[in-house]
Amino acid sequence: MPEDTIFAKIVRGEIPADVVYRDEHVTAFRDIHPQAPVHVLIVPNRVIPSALDVTEEDEPVLGRLFTAARRVAEQEGLADGFRLIVNCRAHGGQEVDHLHLHLMGGEPLGPMRVRRR
Ligand code: 5GP
Repeated sequence: MPEDTIFAKIVRGEIPADVVYRDEHVTAFRDIHPQAPVHVLIVPNRVIPSALDVTEEDEPVLGRLFTAARRVAEQEGLADGFRLIVNCRAHGGQEVDHLHLHLMGGEPLGPMRVRRR
């Protein structure tokens, strides 16, 4: 069932996470394997599997992901900037089938992608 993602369990409080923000649409918590000094995942409370599964009905919650990102960035002192990433399905390297924003910052992050040639 799509509701049974690991992130849905975190949203429902069934497994622990370091939650930094939550409201009626989204929940934000620290990534268990941070790749930057600040690495927070922001997820819709209701499962949307990936960026290829969003619909017009999801627009309020998709907008909330961004305002939540701004709130978390302010809380975390990221006034110098940060990076937001959404991985989608296999080629995007998506591991958890529950749409999420990666909010990463706390130091200069360098180029977005290392070119192969
Ligand atoms: P994706 O590759 O799907 O874009 O990113 C999934 C992210 O979820 C990874 O950065 C991974 O470290 C994180 N993650 C996976 N399982 C858990 C968990 O149980 N708790 C937390 N806080 N993060 C998780």
